Amino acid sequence: MNSIQATIITIGDELLIGQVIDTNSAYIAQALNKIGVSVSNRIAVGDSKEAIIDALNNASANNNVVILTGGLGPTADDITKPLLNEYFGGKMVIHQPTLEHITDIFVNKHKRPMIDRNRKQAEVPDVCEVLFNETGTAPGMLFKKDGVFYFSLPGVPHEMRFLTDKHVIPTIQNSFTTQPILHRTLLTAGIGESFLAELIADLENELPSFIKLAYLPNFGMVRLRLTATGKDENELTTNINAAFAKLKLAVAEYLVTDQDENMEVVVGKLLKQNNQTVSTAESCTGGYIGHLLSKHGGSSQFYTGGIISYDNRIKTEFLNVPEHILQTVGAVSQEAVEQMAKSVRESMKTDFAVSVSGIMGPSGQTDEKPLGMVWIGVASKEKVVSKVFYLRFDRLRNIEVTANQAINLLRLLIINKI
Ligand code: ATP
Ligand code: MG
Repeated sequence: MNSIQATIITIGDELLIGQVIDTNSAYIAQALNKIGVSVSNRIAVGDSKEAIIDALNNASANNNVVILTGGLGPTADDITKPLLNEYFGGKMVIHQPTLEHITDIFVNKHKRPMIDRNRKQAEVPDVCEVLFNETGTAPGMLFKKDGVFYFSLPGVPHEMRFLTDKHVIPTIQNSFTTQPILHRTLLTAGIGESFLAELIADLENELPSFIKLAYLPNFGMVRLRLTATGKDENELTTNINAAFAKLKLAVAEYLVTDQDENMEVVVGKLLKQNNQTVSTAESCTGGYIGHLLSKHGGSSQFYTGGIISYDNRIKTEFLNVPEHILQTVGAVSQEAVEQMAKSVRESMKTDFAVSVSGIMGPSGQTDEKPLGMVWIGVASKEKVVSKVFYLRFDRLRNIEVTANQAINLLRLLIINKI
């Protein structure tokens, strides 16, 4: 059985000049990959009739599925809809449910009058199936020609995601025989990519040809993913589960989670399970740790709050870091972060606390303290532990890595590994 092939075409001048980063095709590619559809090409074209037709002609030659996003709006540069109408030989008609939906959005939700331009968004070629867009005004469309399915989706990312999940993926699954594809993902921390590769070298060599291993390093941690593709789903499940069990065993010492989830989710679950709470005292991350800890629903159960002690005065006045510590060893020091963690935990009355202080760049280094040096502290009722890291990225990346390492250190304290 040959696999289903897809091409993704993203439309818009803004994509070609780099003003907008094309996140849509990454999302669509991931969604297709999950159901075993291979993406043969990802093409970005401008708002030009010739370019879009060219891309369509090329894509139709050796694909079963073509997905277009963008260029469906009410403005003059959005030329995709009339173009598709002409390409597939239809005529424009009003799609009544979409017209009612747009009217509802304008009249009831926004309390704004509707103009012709808005009404026009409810027009669709009579040769397409409408993919009803609950999340916006531009309907998605499906055209079928010579066995090829062409999906046209709005460019607005959340609308594109909605239509991909609700219509595109189920339609492909119902209309084509897709190959089963299975993934198992785990996250490790505390070991670099190359050491990890050494550790699991034998295991990797023993993998059957239909199971692939991917290393996905991020935030100074490494995610490992097994992907199995084949014909018989039961056989694949048995094989991938066996390989995954061996992999977990081999990396047991560094294993954070055997699910495809982020560090803060793992820690949030741990805290909720134990009915415990955490607070934060952040200098160089400016609240980013607090953001991660509070970004998922239900976080009020374990995250109480934090102090962004960016300026030294705040470290002294709100976190009792002694003046003499700041003047001798400085704010980026073991003494400072330990005091910060201890104080915030006590004042916020939490089970745990996390603190960070570092030099995120691009300037601020001294002879003893290089760029990227960061101290992380964690505290419980029983103890305070701290660790120094030397990061080598740009400012924003340093902040992300620091936050993830800090949450990992908190995890280690919660599970009594430090
Ligand atoms: P609308 O009805 O809002 O006009 P549309 O279907 O015409 O939607 P575009 O006008 O091309 O889509 O883009 C709408 C918004 O989505 C813009 O903010 C654009 O920058 C963004 N966008 C378009 N294509 C992509 C893409 N491939 N990745 C990420 N964002 C995109
Ligand atoms: Mg556009």
